[in-house]
Amino acid sequence: MPARLTVLSGPSGVGKGTVVARLRELVPQIWVSVSATTRAPRPGERDGVEYRFVDHPTFEQMIADDELLEHAQFAGNRYGTPREPVHEHLAAGKPTLLEIELDGARQVRTTMPDARFVFLEPPSVPELVQRLSGRATESDDQVRRRLERAEIEMAAADEFDHRVVNSDIDDAAAQVAALVLS
Ligand code: 5GP
Repeated sequence: MPARLTVLSGPSGVGKGTVVARLRELVPQIWVSVSATTRAPRPGERDGVEYRFVDHPTFEQMIADDELLEHAQFAGNRYGTPREPVHEHLAAGKPTLLEIELDGARQVRTTMPDARFVFLEPPSVPELVQRLSGRATESDDQVRRRLERAEIEMAAADEFDHRVVNSDIDDAAAQVAALVLS
């Protein structure tokens, strides 16, 4: 039987990456999609693991070849979900997760309405601002763009089927795990 797709969204800085890492431990059978991005790798990020790092022409070609399930621009970079691996894993019965921003989630809502849409939110806005501002890996300009975008994303929380507050990583991951498996 085909498995269900879960889409996890939420503002940059909310801790999606950490929650997904914990989720993988809780639900080892889950498959997490590897996005293509034009963003430069952060220290420790490996090509093909956290992301597939591509240049702009390659990203454009992927769009032209209709290889992406969804794609969006975020803080000056482009991000997209390769379509084929998602369909393959779902067909093989693997619960599948996309960790993507709002525009992409909206596109998936249109093309795959049966997916489950989960919004991860911070305990408070000041906490999110503090977390984003404290990021050593991002330039001031990047932080500013991400903060602007976070405001837009927070305003869209109601569009999602489920909202999970990330006050405690274990708790948030357990809630997302229950949604993925239900
Ligand atoms: P970061 O640069 O911090 O890794 O990611 C920036 C934002 O892009 C995050 O909100 C992340 O969820 C989102 N993102 C990562 N991959 C994709 C993707 O394939 N598609 C879309 N639409 N957003 C993505």
